[in-house]
Amino acid sequence: MSECIHTTPSRQVKQGANFTAYESGTLPTWLNRSVEIPGLGTLEGKEFLHDTLGFTSCEISVNAMPVGQSMPIYHQHKENEEIYLFIHGRGQLQVDGEIFDVQEGTVARIAPNGSRAWRNIGDKPLIFIIIQAKAGSLRQYGLADTVVPAQTVHWPN
Ligand code: ZN
Repeated sequence: MSECIHTTPSRQVKQGANFTAYESGTLPTWLNRSVEIPGLGTLEGKEFLHDTLGFTSCEISVNAMPVGQSMPIYHQHKENEEIYLFIHGRGQLQVDGEIFDVQEGTVARIAPNGSRAWRNIGDKPLIFIIIQAKAGSLRQYGLADTVVPAQTVHWPN
């Protein structure tokens, strides 16, 4: 199957019939992204990937919060739960007033109605990934959704 590479402003997406791939950049460069949020202004260190990669089942954002910063607002979701995967740094999550520490390796799920905010309490950028998907929408998962075709794995070189 043919592949093509097309470039959208400042990003390169590799695309085949059954995949899309995107170089999000090294972790320190995640600080150089920003998202305009109505009523809040520019949120530094965040990039949404849904439109770039054409996800059909979830939204994913890559996030880097600078030292000393915190989310200035709480937010909830209409129907999506969020999974936060922390991969670098130290921070805190606050959900409905309950506060807990997060760090490299912490994975947290927050239900749509949870009122949430987070902050960086370390001396390095807090780097994390947020996955957003409709609560209750998953019908099969893990091995139950896996099919193994009768095909020997082959790498041409
Ligand atoms: Zn959210």
